[in-house]
Amino acid sequence: MKNINSKFVLMLFLVFAIPFCLYIGKTKPHMQSVFMEENIKNKVQTILDSNKDKELISNRSYDKFIYLVFNKDNVKTHYVIDTKTGEETSLFYYIKEERKEDFFNKINELLYLKYPKFIADSLVGEEKIKDVLLFDNELVLYYDKEGIEPKIEEDLLLHVNYNEVKDYLDFTLLLDSKYENENGYHYDKTKKTVALTFDDGPNGEKTNRILDILEENKAHATFFMVGNRMEYDKSTIYNVLNKGSEIGSHSYNHKNLKRMKLEDVLEGEEKTQEIFKNITGKEIIYTRVPYGSINDNIKENLNTIFINWSIDTEDWLHRNKDRVVQTVLNEIEDGAIILMHDLYDSTVEAVDTLLPILYAQGYQVVSVSELAALKSVQLEQHKVYHSLKEI
Ligand SMILES: [Zn+2]
Repeated sequence: MKNINSKFVLMLFLVFAIPFCLYIGKTKPHMQSVFMEENIKNKVQTILDSNKDKELISNRSYDKFIYLVFNKDNVKTHYVIDTKTGEETSLFYYIKEERKEDFFNKINELLYLKYPKFIADSLVGEEKIKDVLLFDNELVLYYDKEGIEPKIEEDLLLHVNYNEVKDYLDFTLLLDSKYENENGYHYDKTKKTVALTFDDGPNGEKTNRILDILEENKAHATFFMVGNRMEYDKSTIYNVLNKGSEIGSHSYNHKNLKRMKLEDVLEGEEKTQEIFKNITGKEIIYTRVPYGSINDNIKENLNTIFINWSIDTEDWLHRNKDRVVQTVLNEIEDGAIILMHDLYDSTVEAVDTLLPILYAQGYQVVSVSELAALKSVQLEQHKVYHSLKEI
């Protein structure tokens, strides 16, 4: 009997226990994931409970994590919960380890695209990023602005479209078919804006140094050039246009137009137009008369838009960098047109000092055309503009 009994037990074991083990074996992962789901649910609930005083502005599941953002008094708190481990982690955890350097190189590239050099220089590096937020199709990086001189009013942040960094990130993103990077040359209608203008060029090395400084500061300018100098400095003319600045006429030979016969004035303007067209294929639409000297006869008969200025830096007279900087800072206001000359080292140095200060004060420095567009002003021929302050 003993034998039969033990055989029976063994049989029972084989009949029931093996399928049961197989069953358990099969369902174990399932039970594990149920357990994990429960765990994550609890985790999310705990976070929701402990942030009840804040507004929940995002609660999204990505393929590898759940992402929660709360807002209170404009301070954003966010949580990343890994769906595999159930642990709280950071977004930087999802940058592919072997592409980390590429990721930060791309971020730096975008920083220089958006910000003037003096700002971008001080934001390079992971440790300068205060916070990272995820949105539908972009990462937003918030930067620490401590230590930047001159001191910046605005918050420093970078919108990074997923398309730009998709290869470096280890989670599935929503990609845009169309997107545009942030770009410091996309000027903002709501910001204070001034036009910077330079007379008497083209002037080779000085003009080109000014162009470099403009570029470093995401600024543009209008260069009013003397017709009879243009042919001798074509490369500077190309450089001005390639860098997004513009060129107007400063007469053919820098004489006081009021003291000339009208037909000579007209002939000079035509010549300047022709020379410029031969060099660039483009037309000149603005004129700055030498010495700002103009009368009704000239105004009525020249088919051009006359651009004078509201801030005269007298850089040609004093040739003093600090004085130029101070004059502009004393007189600056939204819509102003600033007059300088690309003839002197002191002027080049003044521009170098001035542009970061103006940026820090919230000004955009642009060409006359850009100023008009930003102020929604249609500039008209036969009119003289000193500024676009009150239109
Ligand atoms: Zn002049």
